[in-house]
Amino acid sequence: MKTVSIIGAGAAGLMAAEILSQTNVNVTVYDAMPSAGRKFLMAGKGGLNISHSENFITFLTRYGERETEITPYINVFTPTNLCEWIQKLGIETFTGTSGRIFPKEMKAAPLLRKWLHQLRSRGVQFSMRHRWLGWKNNNTKQLIFDTPTGEKIVNTDVVILALGGGSWARLGSTGEWVKILRENGLNIETLQPSNCGFNIAWREYFQQRFASQPLKNVCLKFATFQKKGDLMFTESGIEGGLIYAASSLIRNEISKNNTATIFLDLFPEKTEIELLAKLCKPRGKLSVAQFWRRQLNLEGAKAGLVREILTIEELNSPEIVSHTLKNLPLILLSPRPLDEAISSAGGVPFEELNADLMCKKLEGVFCAGEMLDWEAPTGGYLLTACLATGRAAGFGVTKWLENSPN
Ligand SMILES: Cc1cc2nc3c(=O)[nH]c(=O)nc-3n(C[C@H](O)[C@H](O)[C@H](O)COP(=O)(O)OP(=O)(O)OC[C@H]3O[C@@H](n4cnc5c(N)ncnc54)[C@H](O)[C@@H]3O)c2cc1C
Repeated sequence: MKTVSIIGAGAAGLMAAEILSQTNVNVTVYDAMPSAGRKFLMAGKGGLNISHSENFITFLTRYGERETEITPYINVFTPTNLCEWIQKLGIETFTGTSGRIFPKEMKAAPLLRKWLHQLRSRGVQFSMRHRWLGWKNNNTKQLIFDTPTGEKIVNTDVVILALGGGSWARLGSTGEWVKILRENGLNIETLQPSNCGFNIAWREYFQQRFASQPLKNVCLKFATFQKKGDLMFTESGIEGGLIYAASSLIRNEISKNNTATIFLDLFPEKTEIELLAKLCKPRGKLSVAQFWRRQLNLEGAKAGLVREILTIEELNSPEIVSHTLKNLPLILLSPRPLDEAISSAGGVPFEELNADLMCKKLEGVFCAGEMLDWEAPTGGYLLTACLATGRAAGFGVTKWLENSPN
């Protein structure tokens, strides 16, 4: 019987194992960590957003520049298929008001437990605490692992690499594989933070007063991007779902021009003229802070942000303040480090792979999941593509073994 080694026990690797467990091959999943699915479990902490129910065409556009490459894999494992798959594991799903799809219990642990149980019952072996170091003498059929009992060589017919990106390294995805694959002749796009926060040079007062405070219901405008949502101030800058959604555009702008200026509309439900009318009312003996609070309910972090941007003279100009409330500029200096990001951009380019996700330069080596060069916003798109590409790699291996002469 042929031997398939899957390195990486995350969403992509486990899905590949699931496909192969239904065929006549020996499957072993290796992982550097002591247990499987650590990032999957972390993703479930605030509610495991596994996919999205929006119109399928819109769904596919979320993969941006890589929509064309990702589409074939999601076409055959759509959000509907994904929900059916979860339901077969005995987990119910529900769709939130935003269209995001979650398991009913929200957490990832019950799903992962059932999934691993099913894989084991189908004969999949798990070898944890096995850190892949590369191939022996460039032979892709001989894997080198660092294990608690020393270095180990494993012979295999095929390998699926599902090693994740480079964020949250403490959960296992360290990105060390980039060097190994480059040394084996693959062009790998450098891993970069995606769905990440950004650094801003706050003044000390703002930093001390407003770090960790949310900025609710604002509209973020950057180039063609325009979306309402919430942000969070941090000591070093800004983070939160709204900025994550624009992070790839902003990151690209920073790498071209060193900084990126975003604009915030702090009152998306009001026009500038309405704001101006309120600010033109007589102030009497009220301080600026009291006047803003009374006229516009403008206080706390929102008011702090306006004070951070404008000079004292400008704060007294109703025209300048009303304009700023609708178009507050923030200069973003750099993305936060990759390790803090929700996901990675960069990785193995699709140009290095055939349609079954096998490396064109390395026969019998397949890749899947976040380590491929695509990115998407949060909203369930990340896990959907990891599962879909893991599935494709599993089928790719089956096809390759059928056609392989030895
Ligand atoms: C806080 C957080 C919340 C998230 N929330 C969501 C969400 O709600 N919805 C969503 O769609 N996505 C979410 N994501 C992203 C999603 O979890 C990931 O995109 C997805 O889990 C990646 O799956 P993967 O299988 O490609 O890689 P991973 O899950 O990272 O698995 C890779 C595995 O490879 C192992 N490995 C790496 N290198 C080696 C080596 N050299 N030797 C052996 N093993 C190795 C690692 O230990 C790891 O287990 C979240 C991410 C984070 C960090």
